[in-house]
Amino acid sequence: MSKKNQNKINSYSFFNCIEKNFDKASRYLSIEQGLLNQIKSCNSVYRIHFPVKIGKNIEVIEAYRVQHSHHKLPCKGGIRYSTKVNQDEIMTLSALMTYKCAIVDVPFGGAKGGIKIDPQKMSEENIETITRRYTLELIKKNFIGPGIDVPAPDYGTGEKEMSWIFDTFSSIRPGDIDALACVTGKPVSQGGVRGRKEATGLGVFYGIRELCQMKEDMAYVGLNTGLIGKKIIIQGLGNVGYHAASFFHQYGGIIVALAEREGAIYNKKGLDVHEVILHLKNTGSILNFPGSKNIKNTENALELECDILIPAALENVIHKRNAHRIQAKIIGEAANGPITPEADEILEKKGIIIVPDIYLNAGGVTVSYFEWLKNLSHVRHGRMEKRFSENMNAELLQVIETTCNKKISNEEKKIILRGAREIDLVRSGLEDTMISGFHKIRDLKKSLKIDNLRTAAFLFAINKIVDSYEKLGIFP
Ligand code: GLU
Repeated sequence: MSKKNQNKINSYSFFNCIEKNFDKASRYLSIEQGLLNQIKSCNSVYRIHFPVKIGKNIEVIEAYRVQHSHHKLPCKGGIRYSTKVNQDEIMTLSALMTYKCAIVDVPFGGAKGGIKIDPQKMSEENIETITRRYTLELIKKNFIGPGIDVPAPDYGTGEKEMSWIFDTFSSIRPGDIDALACVTGKPVSQGGVRGRKEATGLGVFYGIRELCQMKEDMAYVGLNTGLIGKKIIIQGLGNVGYHAASFFHQYGGIIVALAEREGAIYNKKGLDVHEVILHLKNTGSILNFPGSKNIKNTENALELECDILIPAALENVIHKRNAHRIQAKIIGEAANGPITPEADEILEKKGIIIVPDIYLNAGGVTVSYFEWLKNLSHVRHGRMEKRFSENMNAELLQVIETTCNKKISNEEKKIILRGAREIDLVRSGLEDTMISGFHKIRDLKKSLKIDNLRTAAFLFAINKIVDSYEKLGIFP
């Protein structure tokens, strides 16, 4: 989108949007303005230009790493590859990371990185060269390390890039026993944790499912409790959108529309997400999926009738020009910053419940935290206790069988005896984090009679960071 167009839909910079939300929340606090200013601002901004040889030419690559807050270390946050990357965007996303971590009780400060490239138009070899060179630039300025700043995947990056980052870091720091913890989102064979790939999407599912259990909230938007049968639209079929869609589909949600860059597809009876992905792989597009209607302008899909709308792609997709036309009762922000402040106000007046990004998409960083812990402890989660709990369960079962004089079927035994594998521990840790996070912000909203979940979420996060600063004191 051109700068001119961007301005038309949004009269603030992206960072101003977050400041606006921050200020709304901080009105509920009586804290010294200086401290609030410190929390709001980005601690370190590193802008890099480096040369890379692409074919016979030398290209200058623009890249960033921003550490928003050092109140807890390491800093944490993804790295995105996109032609839209700019300083304002990366600063904003790094700030969101700080608040996200505070809400889900992950002991990190926020950070974000970005490289201004279009990975879809580049060879894998060139992406690898750029990723390795970027990592070297971070090492040079001490902007990466297990206790300093730990990147992860984001828009346009994934396991492969994280692997290259780790490999580059460990070759520069040979013998660093904790080197694996310098980056998360790695493949399982390279120190990654099971369940990281789908974590953000699964977290979105857990968060929305929890909201749908709340009788009062559902009555407010005129819906029944429970997720089953709810009509859902997902915008963006990247890692987050795809996994969120799969979990909603698996647990009884009806995916009525899916939107991608090239357009959207609609079927009021529901789309089978896995079939759509197969179709996408075979034809290169989600359009013309059998039994569905094509929607040429992908933005129009956001305005279709549904119960739950999940924007899972990029920022600012719901703005003052289309907010009036949104028909959803609930919007779950799987993407970072998909709603501008102006749109936020319009949607709130329409009585739509918005589940904010700084809570809802925190599943990714939560499981990144589990990966970081695994890397630092050098042992797979569950390795020490799996067999022990299976043996204990077997003994317990035997006692129950003898006391009750009843045989338990082999099928039942299989379920009861099972010790927790790494994936079970990761998923239960994530589920617990998302459910308790939801209630922390919902309870705060109720007790202070705050208008919306976003302000409550910001307030919760700010309170926590303030507490951290107050206990640490300010270094002279
Ligand atoms: N990029 C993800 C986010 O925006 C994950 C960050 C992480 O795992 O550190 O939350």
